[in-house]
Amino acid sequence: MLNFNNEINSTNITNFYDKTCYTDTADTDNTTELSNSNSYIKIIGTIQDGGYPSLGCQKKCCKDEELWKTPKYFVSSIGLVIKTKNTNKDKDKVKDINKDSNNEDIDIAPKIYLFDVSPDIKPQFYNLQKENPSCKYPTGVFLTHAHVGHYLGLPYFGREALNTKNVELYAYNRMIKFLQNNGPFSQLFKLSNIIVKQDLSQNNIVKLEHGIEVESFLVNHRDEYSETCGFIIKSKTTIVLFIPDIDNFTEIDIISLIKKSTYAFIDGTFYNEHELPGRNIKEIPHPLIFDSIQFFKSKLSLEECGKIYFTHLNHTNPCLDINSEAYNYVKKNGFNIVNENMRIDLN
Ligand SMILES: [Zn+2]
Ligand SMILES: [Zn+2]
Ligand SMILES: [Zn+2]
Repeated sequence: MLNFNNEINSTNITNFYDKTCYTDTADTDNTTELSNSNSYIKIIGTIQDGGYPSLGCQKKCCKDEELWKTPKYFVSSIGLVIKTKNTNKDKDKVKDINKDSNNEDIDIAPKIYLFDVSPDIKPQFYNLQKENPSCKYPTGVFLTHAHVGHYLGLPYFGREALNTKNVELYAYNRMIKFLQNNGPFSQLFKLSNIIVKQDLSQNNIVKLEHGIEVESFLVNHRDEYSETCGFIIKSKTTIVLFIPDIDNFTEIDIISLIKKSTYAFIDGTFYNEHELPGRNIKEIPHPLIFDSIQFFKSKLSLEECGKIYFTHLNHTNPCLDINSEAYNYVKKNGFNIVNENMRIDLN
């Protein structure tokens, strides 16, 4: 049976705090207090497109009935919460406003941006909204590409569900056109549930509030319906790299991207080639975690390898079990497996 227990969280909390980041666990409910003063990134999903447990899977990985009743792991996605404070006001007043949200002098309304809108959007947005209850819906969404795990949550923005207003869309041109020309997504534009805010093919730098910037770049991946991109989220103190899906790391300059980053969340879909018996892994190419470890170890220092968190894990990936040899191999070599609810403070 898979074992996701507090051991993983307590181990990682120590490491995360060292890097101004921490994990929100069920038994440490201190997130609200901390989120009142800081902009932050929160990992709200860590799994490959098919989810975990995965439709129809009767193998050991998805056998635990508790996983079906109460899913704890969601499809790969990142939330960015930006707290906008009026810096002209003195700091004591800012402290006061956090106690008294009726004071209108200072804008503390947080903004939520999503990086990919997964089919698990409901619990994922709940996760962010519970810490930011004044947010009715996301301010904006950044999309990597048109594979099911990365945008199928969007229809829930429509009038059958949340009925959002003018949620800003940031994506590359083919991705935008694909959404505009195909239902049910096309209706979201007609009803202004979402609006195109920036075509990243024209300008790949997006300036958000509070000096936070998002840079995007194209990556090599199966591009049936859209391009595929990665994102770099930058604050004054922290740079976060996000590449959930890529065919291999040899066609982009991944080494300098990781060197420049504080954290790198990158494709760790499969651990090795034995993971999908009966399916040709070449049809669904991804860099295998085992190979990536050898590659990065030969190019990066131990400290730089420690920035790497493998994400977008397939339900079959043995690294989902912290007692597995695979998980221990990753940790022993100084790399990390991403943790649901990991938070990174951006201030
Ligand atoms: Zn994917
Ligand atoms: Zn499974
Ligand atoms: Zn994909």
